[in-house]
Amino acid sequence: MSMPPIARFGREYLAIPGPSVIPDAVLQAMHRGAPNIYAGALVDMAATLGPDLKRVARTVGHVAMYIGNGHAAWEAALANTIAPGDTVLVPATGRFAHGWADMAEGLGAEVQIMDFGKRAPMDMDQIEAALRADTSHKIKAVLAVHVDTSTSIRNDIHAVRKALDAAEHPALLMADCIASLACDHFEMDAWGVDVMVAGCQKGLMVPPGMAFVFFNDKAAQVRADMARVSRYWDWTPRANPEEFFMYWNGTAPTHHLYGLRTALDIIHTEGMEAVWKRHALLARAIWAACDAWGSTGPLELNVADAAHRSVAVTSLRLEAPHATALRDWVEHNLGLTLGIGLGMAPPGDPAWHGFFRLGHMGHVNGHMIMGLLGGIEAGLIALDIPHGTGALEAAAQVIGKG
Ligand SMILES: *Cc1c(COP(=O)(O)O)cnc(C)c1O
Repeated sequence: MSMPPIARFGREYLAIPGPSVIPDAVLQAMHRGAPNIYAGALVDMAATLGPDLKRVARTVGHVAMYIGNGHAAWEAALANTIAPGDTVLVPATGRFAHGWADMAEGLGAEVQIMDFGKRAPMDMDQIEAALRADTSHKIKAVLAVHVDTSTSIRNDIHAVRKALDAAEHPALLMADCIASLACDHFEMDAWGVDVMVAGCQKGLMVPPGMAFVFFNDKAAQVRADMARVSRYWDWTPRANPEEFFMYWNGTAPTHHLYGLRTALDIIHTEGMEAVWKRHALLARAIWAACDAWGSTGPLELNVADAAHRSVAVTSLRLEAPHATALRDWVEHNLGLTLGIGLGMAPPGDPAWHGFFRLGHMGHVNGHMIMGLLGGIEAGLIALDIPHGTGALEAAAQVIGKG
């Protein structure tokens, strides 16, 4: 680096698509001594988490909490519903569907993948056709990722339900909302989702370590009909605990519970509709800036049609090796960390350095997004990467005019 990092020291900003920025109030809530896990304040408080989580998911169904990350939620959802030999249909629009499919395969499922590439959403007609073709109803569940965090494609989960209904297919609709919950509009019950998985470290703004599986009565019946479910993943005692320890099948994630309580307070004080609106506005500001940069030069939004873009994460293309150079520059010089280009090119391939991502999920507001965009602009200038002008102006117009 030719320039010393004279503009680096100050509050750093981790703008990657998870883990996300942690609110100070969440950190402060977690900063305490070890609480009693058998009785008292923690036990009483934990009982308030389920109802408030369900308000975020927009469901009157059930929720099971686990100590784990998003991968744990994937496995938990499958362990309760899919037996070895069962078939699952996995429409893929990026890396994460393949990850969930791989987990299903590890549990002995027959996996039927429909790959829609890395730049387009699921094609509902093809999904409906696949379901109609399954006349013997071998497919037990459709595993649908709402927002794929590698490509930043957002899929229409309600339309998957419509495809299932049109085909009169009884398979469960399981949605991965790990990147979208509390960012992008999502309605578990109204959209006919039977099982939904989430983690705490993205839109829910808590350090990684808790996973959630939401499920309705139809999914509970599928669980009840399973010949065997591993004790640890079984969602039944976790969703209806007679004793506090049953929530977690052992010791509670004590400090995460305090963090989660505070995060849910922040979310419900703002209000779900307002949370969605904020994310949508800030995403539009980012897209406007990207369009301006991309008007000349190599920068390009991965998803061309704004209707199919996530409002929580943005995947960008920036001709190798520019993307990696830009990430390195803004981190070293500005204390701003951008996301790597996950799943767009094989690691080790020179093309890998042509992709990066912006995380804008959870605890982010207008000045943070303007700072993020200003940092990128400084990097493009410093590295002589060709780009169009007027990006910050375009973003400010969006935020200023709404
Ligand atoms: C982050 C993410 C995961 C994986 O979560 P981990 O906590 O890293 O295990 C799965 N699916 C989606 C859509 C994600 O964004």
